[in-house]
Amino acid sequence: MLRLVASKSPLATIAARNSVQAVKAPVANGFYRFYSTSSDEYDVVVIGGGPGGYPAAIKAAQSGLKVACIEKRGSLGGTCLNVGCIPSKAMLNNSHIYHQTAHELKSRGIDVGDVKLNLDNMLKAKLKAVNGLTKGVEFLFKKYKVDYVKGWGKFKTANEIEVDGLDGKQSVLKTKNVIIATGSEATPIPGIEIDEKQIVTSTGALELQKVPKKMIVIGGGVIGLELGSVWSRLGAEVTVVEYLGAIGGGMDTELAKNFHKVLQKQGFKFKLNTKVNGAKVVDGVVKVDVEAAKGGNEETLDADVVLLSIGRRPFTEGLGLENVGVEVDNRGRIVIDSEFKTNVSNIRCIGDVTFGPMLAHKAEDEGFAVSEMIATGHGHVNYDVIPSVIYTHPEIAWVGKNEEELKKAGIKYKTGNYPFVANSRARTNDDTDGFVKVITDAETDRILGVHIMGPNAGEMIAEAGLAMEYGASAEDVGRTCHAHPVSE
Ligand SMILES: Cc1cc2nc3c(=O)[nH]c(=O)nc-3n(C[C@H](O)[C@H](O)[C@H](O)COP(=O)(O)OP(=O)(O)OC[C@H]3O[C@@H](n4cnc5c(N)ncnc54)[C@H](O)[C@@H]3O)c2cc1C
Repeated sequence: MLRLVASKSPLATIAARNSVQAVKAPVANGFYRFYSTSSDEYDVVVIGGGPGGYPAAIKAAQSGLKVACIEKRGSLGGTCLNVGCIPSKAMLNNSHIYHQTAHELKSRGIDVGDVKLNLDNMLKAKLKAVNGLTKGVEFLFKKYKVDYVKGWGKFKTANEIEVDGLDGKQSVLKTKNVIIATGSEATPIPGIEIDEKQIVTSTGALELQKVPKKMIVIGGGVIGLELGSVWSRLGAEVTVVEYLGAIGGGMDTELAKNFHKVLQKQGFKFKLNTKVNGAKVVDGVVKVDVEAAKGGNEETLDADVVLLSIGRRPFTEGLGLENVGVEVDNRGRIVIDSEFKTNVSNIRCIGDVTFGPMLAHKAEDEGFAVSEMIATGHGHVNYDVIPSVIYTHPEIAWVGKNEEELKKAGIKYKTGNYPFVANSRARTNDDTDGFVKVITDAETDRILGVHIMGPNAGEMIAEAGLAMEYGASAEDVGRTCHAHPVSE
């Protein structure tokens, strides 16, 4: 059974990586600069201060380079800290506590008085988490002497970035290297107008001022299911409309089926194999036109709020890529090589705006690696071991390959499943929905993938990731002593 391990924060990762750097390359008096030729020229300009851009900027500065990071939002941390991971996790945690208090505490022997939702305060608690973390990044910029430039960055040439400052002033930053880390935005549905009040993206769904009676979530992927969970726990009737025949955006089929059942038990309604033709507000009600994905069975669904969560797309608007000829593919992703280089050799790119899963920790790891690459010529991300987590309750987490992918690749594998209902701690806590599934190579026993639905899956998956990073077999993990009663 997998062991529970403590989670790491991006700030902790920066501290950890900095200590590795200190061992590898001790430098007298902290830092030195070895690339700059004049004081007004940067070694690196990073465009975008999200979880890709800010670690890149800090790592480059820690390596002795002269660095600026341009951010247009007026606050560092990108989508993740401002309108993504952090506010959604704050709402998930607090809505879970509310739901448990209102519906579960009695059976656990705790009598409380009237439980009331104070949404205003819940939104304030979310804001407190966001502000604390964004200010933390600003502090790190000061500490490591990264110039924080507030404004919209645009390529003038490959070595000059024009900035439309938030203070209304314009400037040009000269630089040897550029790292594009401009992230992503919610993918719209043509013809559906987003007002962020009743027809919302994830940004509006994190700001609703009252609990909708009926909420329709368009798209049964990670973001839709997390935010659907928030509002369902707070009292909304949530219906998920999904074009495909399964939820979870391509996760292991067995996991997806079980997750679907658990969410149904929690009150979610699902309309799978269903496409949305349009949505508009009529007399204060959102009318959503749907039909079977194959065609036919048209109907109109009513809702107070509709969340559009069909995915995210790379964001390069106003960046002036055309001025320097940086290549993008047919999905708008900036094309890079294995050293994060675009077709213009001094311009590199990381995070959501290029290939790979749109995840904060993937962007963050690329941020470190790209700056290591610029400073030392080496930098690496293992794309085979990037965990994914859905922070619902129970949590869903996976890393490595799923059965469908292995079948497609013709790799022979074995699976081992262990249900939480047989786990002492889960039973003790009366929190038994879910299972751990380990997929191993049929001949060598090497772990190829781990898929978990269960309490704290998001933390447990880290052990699987570490095991896979070191090429462990299932037996290696099995022979490692794990603390009781988590372990069995
Ligand atoms: C609701 C929600 C929940 C999520 N939850 C999770 C989660 O739990 N775990 C997880 O791993 N991922 C999660 N994500 C995904 C995660 O937020 C992204 O993968 C991550 O933020 C990508 O980082 P990035 O640095 O590439 O881009 P971003 O975070 O999008 O940052 C890019 C920044 O660049 C700025 N910018 C863009 N263009 C310019 C320009 N021309 N000049 C100056 N600045 C510019 C933008 O303002 C933005 O701040 C979530 C996303 C959403 C929407």
